[in-house]
Amino acid sequence: MNIHEYQAKAVLKEYGAPVAEGVAIFSADEAEAAAKSLPGPLWVVKSQIHAGGRGKGKFKELSADAKGGVRLAFSLDEVTSNAKEMLGNTLVTKQTGAAGKVVNRLYIEDGADIERELYLSILVDRTVGRPAFVVSTEGGMDIEAVAEETPEKIVTLPIDPETGVTEADAAKLCDALELTGAAREDGMKLFPILHTAFVEKDMSLLEVNPLIVMKDGRLRVLDAKVSFDGNALFRHPDIMELRDVTEEDDKEIEASKYDLAYVALDGDIGCMVNGAGLAMATMDIIKLYGAEPANFLDVGGGASKEKVTAAFKIITSDPNVKGILVNIFGGIMRCDVIAEGVVAAVKEVGLQVPLVVRLEGTNVELGKKIINESGLNVIAADDLDDAAQKIVKAVKG
Ligand code: ADP
Ligand code: MG
Repeated sequence: MNIHEYQAKAVLKEYGAPVAEGVAIFSADEAEAAAKSLPGPLWVVKSQIHAGGRGKGKFKELSADAKGGVRLAFSLDEVTSNAKEMLGNTLVTKQTGAAGKVVNRLYIEDGADIERELYLSILVDRTVGRPAFVVSTEGGMDIEAVAEETPEKIVTLPIDPETGVTEADAAKLCDALELTGAAREDGMKLFPILHTAFVEKDMSLLEVNPLIVMKDGRLRVLDAKVSFDGNALFRHPDIMELRDVTEEDDKEIEASKYDLAYVALDGDIGCMVNGAGLAMATMDIIKLYGAEPANFLDVGGGASKEKVTAAFKIITSDPNVKGILVNIFGGIMRCDVIAEGVVAAVKEVGLQVPLVVRLEGTNVELGKKIINESGLNVIAADDLDDAAQKIVKAVKG
């Protein structure tokens, strides 16, 4: 689950990280009062959407030379006029896709005097099985270009979960970021704080870009992007309250109601599979035969007919889906339950696209019988390879 920048900063502030003062607003009427409560004379009006690249983003409704989704304001009037221009409009950034995201919230923040913009993130590094810091002196709005063109400027430091961030670790990070004086003192305190927040709150990503050195030599967290491990949310009711469903994919929200592991993707072949590993393999093999999956979906082991029906409906509700591949290897999951779910869903919503079904395992004969007797126009497949080729052929011709 993702949260907004201002929420992420509030979480980090609880742990003692240096963040600017700011106020989140939902309407332009609130802009002036929000700005007045901050020190000034520089304010920053920041679009709150669950995507980065806002500074360089463009509003769909505004002219091409209009400013982006993060704007400096030098007077109260400018804060208000910017708020009016941004709220309710659609911001398109490198991370939103072409559709963009509607800006429903703004964060009015105290402006900082920036000396240097640094990059810092913490993520779970799978190669070493530990949280790792990723830092660079080249922070700011072009970190993707740095990663591509000068990857040697990015330093990775895994952290031992037994010890947390040691003094030696913090010093290494300070060195990598070329921090001296007050900024170095701040860094020695900040790095353990961020790591503790990451671990205690079960984050999967904590990205501070930029972390800044200010003109007065101190460090400040200027942007914050945080994602949480969805499987750990049950033990963080405070974090769960920060969820903003207007930022999420409708299909994913629907799937979460049924406890389905579903991720919307950009392709055109809908996938209904049991088991995360088989689901990944199914997506891979679809790609191998030259098409793209429209989703990841693991219906799970003990899925009921209702759950399978819901899953099938979610897949068919995606207008990009040009064909569906059902790939079930029934172990705990029974093939007849899958078949019943598919048939029930098709009865309700119809079937506008080709459907390839590959069933194997527990109750497979019964499952096939249910599908055969349903009168559904199904293309049967024998194995994974056969199924993938058949659906790609059905969609691409
Ligand atoms: P995004 O990464 O989505 O573009 P940021 O929060 O990183 O959004 O803001 C983009 C840029 O705007 C930053 O790199 C920084 O230069 C500037 N900026 C953001 N917040 C402030 C602030 N409070 N004071 C001064 N400049 C800021
Ligand atoms: Mg940023």
